[in-house]
Amino acid sequence: MISDLYINGEWISTKSKIPIYDPSDDSVISHISLAGEAEINLALDAAERGFSIISKMAPRVRAEYLRKAFEMMIDEADKIATLLSKENGKVFADAKGEVLYAAEFLRWFSEEAVRITGDFRTSPSGDKRIIVTQQPVGVSLLITPWNFPAAMITRKVGPALAAGCSVIIKPASETPLTALAIVDIFHRIGLPAGIINLVMVQPAAPAVSQIMSDSRVKNLSFTGSTEVGKILLKQAADRVMRTSMELGGNAPFIVLDDADVDAAVSGAMIAKLRNGGSACTAANRIYVAKNVSKEFTTKFTKAMEAVLMAPGMEPGAQLGSSVSKSERDKISDLVDRAIEVGGKILTGGVKPAEPGAFYPPTVIEVKSDNPILSKEIFGPVAPIVTFSTDDEAITLANDTDYGLISYVYGGELRRTLRVAEAMESGMVAINRGVISDPAAPFGGYKESGIGREGGFAGITEFLETKYIGTDF
Ligand code: ADP
Repeated sequence: MISDLYINGEWISTKSKIPIYDPSDDSVISHISLAGEAEINLALDAAERGFSIISKMAPRVRAEYLRKAFEMMIDEADKIATLLSKENGKVFADAKGEVLYAAEFLRWFSEEAVRITGDFRTSPSGDKRIIVTQQPVGVSLLITPWNFPAAMITRKVGPALAAGCSVIIKPASETPLTALAIVDIFHRIGLPAGIINLVMVQPAAPAVSQIMSDSRVKNLSFTGSTEVGKILLKQAADRVMRTSMELGGNAPFIVLDDADVDAAVSGAMIAKLRNGGSACTAANRIYVAKNVSKEFTTKFTKAMEAVLMAPGMEPGAQLGSSVSKSERDKISDLVDRAIEVGGKILTGGVKPAEPGAFYPPTVIEVKSDNPILSKEIFGPVAPIVTFSTDDEAITLANDTDYGLISYVYGGELRRTLRVAEAMESGMVAINRGVISDPAAPFGGYKESGIGREGGFAGITEFLETKYIGTDF
């Protein structure tokens, strides 16, 4: 297991170390090296050199590095998923699913690297040629969260390398081991030194400020909370730095009265419990039409009660632990507060005894003004609200500063699509509990972010558009 910084193609150990825990039993898995100011300077120098290499590399060559990394990641999926499950707490099935999904970003962007387009036209007045080309933006800082320690790395590294950018990765300090395992794949396939660099830091703020204030860094791709995203946007403004922001979510899950209730229950289980609910795409507020609410709530509660909560690597485990006790306690506090103001617990709602950062599958009936509906829960807690008309559901669903994803279950297509189109979110799932796909644009409206990852849009976050005009 690797625990060192990766700078200029070398593993660097430092004296300053922090422990990494398995949150399902509080045991220490590893101690990782932390970067100080000196190591960050080394990473900045290396990334600058790496940029001069990758920006001149032929697209096909960049594509082939990504393709090789994809293949190695698939070959080693079980090993990486085991590490991921241990440091994050999620169950092995979720971890394996994430690793395969993460690898797909490398494949997708290996295919995109050779399809960066441009344009050549005569100007409307005929006085010049308009040549439009796209160039890599430059050294990019990639900051990732703990909830998807593999996929959030490849979703950024894939397009960065495809576009011709070098990177400095700053993974979440709770889950750096998976990030290191992925970087090691690029090391072993022989990616030239300096193109990928990884620094672990604690606390994050001073180190990130040091990197962001360096004029060699041209771009920030951040995935994390809206709160931290706003801080970084303000810092980016000082240098008018390019940013891509994948921030928090507060996804509504709407069940219309003509929906297939059993399908809606299955979809809600996936949308709520995938990754233990710690996903920005997790169904955060379930809105059910009055005349199907009893059937939906009864069946959904029964399904939530049947979930096996256990350490992530235990056979059959369906819900693992949160990433840490402090994250688990945030979930528990939200539920306690929701109960205080009238929420009715149908299952769960009680913090289990030690050890481990567990929180049980919880269903809670609430009124539409319960404060839990305005917070990103990030755990296996499903608040249910009933509504009377489609328009009421639309109003309730859009009553949030977030706008990442919405889920709509309905029967008649015209009606379901009308609701889907009215959602103020960057993504809408119709009659599905999960729609994330490396080939589709992922991103949010409103305070859920700026920019898109994956799809055809993902690579453009790492490209500058250049217009060249001629005298003929
Ligand atoms: P999450 O709750 O998903 O961990 P955060 O926004 O707290 O979301 O963290 C996402 C990433 O941002 C992590 O890598 C974290 O270390 C980093 N981070 C947290 N606070 C700051 C900060 N003030 N400045 C820069 N990076 C930060």
